[in-house]
Amino acid sequence: MLNRWDDGEAAQWTRLGDLGEITYGSRLVGADPALVLHGGGNTSIKGHSTDPWGEPVPTLWVKGSGWDLATIEPPGFAPLRLEPVRRLAELAELSDTEMVSQLRIHLLDASAPNPSVEAILHALLPHRAVLHSHADAVLALTNTAEGDERVRELWGDRAVVVPYVMPGFDLARRCADEWQAQAHDGTEAMVLLNHGIFTFAETTRQAYDSMIDRISEAEQCLADAGVTSFGEADAGAAEGRSAPSPGSDAVETVAELRAAISAAAGVPMLLRDVHDERADAFCARDDLASVAQRGPATPDHIIRTKQFPMVGRDVAAFVDGYRAYFERNSGRHIDGGSKSGHGSRGGTSQASLTMLDPAPRLVLDRELGLWTAGRRAADCDIVADIYLHTIDVINAAEALGGYVALGEADLFDVEYWELEQAKLARAGAPAVLAGQVALVTGAASGIGRAAAAALASAGAAVVGIDIDPVISVDHDGDSDRPSALHGSAWFGIEGDITDLGALSTAVVAAVNRFGGLDIVVAAAGIFGPSAPLAALAEDHANAPACASSARGRRPDADRSRSGTGDHHHESALGTAWQQTFDINVVGAANTLAAAHRVMRHSPTGGRVVIVGSKNVPAPGKGAAAYSASKAALTQLARVAALEWAADGITVNVVHPDGVFDTGLWSDELIAERAASYELTPEQYRRRNLLGRELTSADVGALIAQMCSPAFAHTTGAQIPQDGGSDRVV
Ligand SMILES: [Zn+2]
Repeated sequence: MLNRWDDGEAAQWTRLGDLGEITYGSRLVGADPALVLHGGGNTSIKGHSTDPWGEPVPTLWVKGSGWDLATIEPPGFAPLRLEPVRRLAELAELSDTEMVSQLRIHLLDASAPNPSVEAILHALLPHRAVLHSHADAVLALTNTAEGDERVRELWGDRAVVVPYVMPGFDLARRCADEWQAQAHDGTEAMVLLNHGIFTFAETTRQAYDSMIDRISEAEQCLADAGVTSFGEADAGAAEGRSAPSPGSDAVETVAELRAAISAAAGVPMLLRDVHDERADAFCARDDLASVAQRGPATPDHIIRTKQFPMVGRDVAAFVDGYRAYFERNSGRHIDGGSKSGHGSRGGTSQASLTMLDPAPRLVLDRELGLWTAGRRAADCDIVADIYLHTIDVINAAEALGGYVALGEADLFDVEYWELEQAKLARAGAPAVLAGQVALVTGAASGIGRAAAAALASAGAAVVGIDIDPVISVDHDGDSDRPSALHGSAWFGIEGDITDLGALSTAVVAAVNRFGGLDIVVAAAGIFGPSAPLAALAEDHANAPACASSARGRRPDADRSRSGTGDHHHESALGTAWQQTFDINVVGAANTLAAAHRVMRHSPTGGRVVIVGSKNVPAPGKGAAAYSASKAALTQLARVAALEWAADGITVNVVHPDGVFDTGLWSDELIAERAASYELTPEQYRRRNLLGRELTSADVGALIAQMCSPAFAHTTGAQIPQDGGSDRVV
């Protein structure tokens, strides 16, 4: 295992004192996913602070709950009065809720985060710097039938070995006892079976070196035992496995699976493909059902992964199994009984427990491979990270003779431990469109981009398609883009919506990345040439193509198609007419057609929003192609509303007017249109009853609303967003 300590960087941190020193060491532990994942592990340092009366106070700075070691900052550590926290371990009993309360009482900073639930354990260890990880190599050694002996063989009496006890006060007490019985001057580590490892020293540097040395020894021990390919969990996504291709059954199979998982969860869930060769190899194991259903590698994974993955696609059977597991175990919490030695935990868990949603968070399927489920793409990614490491641990433990995880009673106690549930609750209420997947056309700019951003802000995962290559320049973030359109919940794909194949590709991307499709926003459009109708005939008579074709066309139009081609015998205006219909009408028809077979499996029923125009109820002179195309588009939407009502899909139209902050409009075009109404450009911008100028963000916000439950009972509707038009009202 790589030792990441850098003296130069360390010096920067240690100048900040004790807290800087432990912050740096913590970040190094957090930097290695083979040590800890996503909020796992904890660290501390002991020193002195000064109280308001100038008295020195022996202080324990311990990781605050909710902070991640990889990114922790000095304020992420909770400063505790060391002595009273140490003395808490002398109590015969302390409920976990009371422990949390006591720890807060002994904080030296009222605004500090809740101290780690392992704070008492950190206080008891005599060393100044303490690091705790859930290292894969230790989990591989200890999640075996002879885990205890393996640790003894490897480290002899250099390690204090502690049998599995659930984290919290009881674990601190048990560690105190084992420490007293086993520790001596040569003690280098404390191993918690089925859980992780502690290292400690006078300095963070020494404690970190010791952590890396111990894990390296454990890895060597695995290698000596013939375990190969250990430690490749982060080798990166493999290109090997082919994604479901358009037209294949897999696309609908995945969409149906997502619908079933969402139904089990009671809310829409994303389902995300984990492209990884090792995951595929794991899914191909003959003993998959056995090895994958023995439990997580370390107990705190359970709040992310459930007690085990679903093997295959039988969601109903998984749900039945989860209910049975809940019923078998929840009784202990209610009556405080002690079946299999597990009493109730925590002060408030005497009240009856409410079952968490029984939907799987992991799918292992021979054909589909590894998929993760969650409310947000980031949740899915966390589960994927955890499971790729779990596969490493399982493969290694199997090679040692057999992976043995904790029994379900221990797992249940952690899953339903109020302090673990509080971690999830801290994430806050999910956004209104959480778990939903949107496809937005024309998403690189204008209304399409604003709609994509509004949907993403409302919690949806968004696939954007656009002819403009900028859409796919940077999937992971771009400072020029709205903040919502980056990260794993966003995917931009370059494509021409007049090509049905490009839309099928976008739909497949939505399925592979997010499991299906719930929302479609047809926002791509062009204004086309601004010309009186009769000009079509004049143009045809005068010229067989060329110069005039650029007139009135916006940049997006130029990028949309190659222009003339087959239409060389037509007039330039005629070609532009055709193009306006191709993009505004045929493009939208393609979008709806490509989306339908997946969207009909949407757990929400499916929502389509078509961006029409005020020109439909109130057409404008000189905008024949645009007005006629938007009218045709509106009629298309009405037919879709009729045809798809039986699938539960709603189709509604928004008719914006005068959204001038989009690529559709140039100052030249505004002046031109203003003149056709005999208005100045300023008057034209605000020529509505309310006298307000509309922005694309306003339209995006309305579109997101139209995809929300507020519009669940509305279909075939046309909603004006034009500031009020005296020609329509
Ligand atoms: Zn731990």
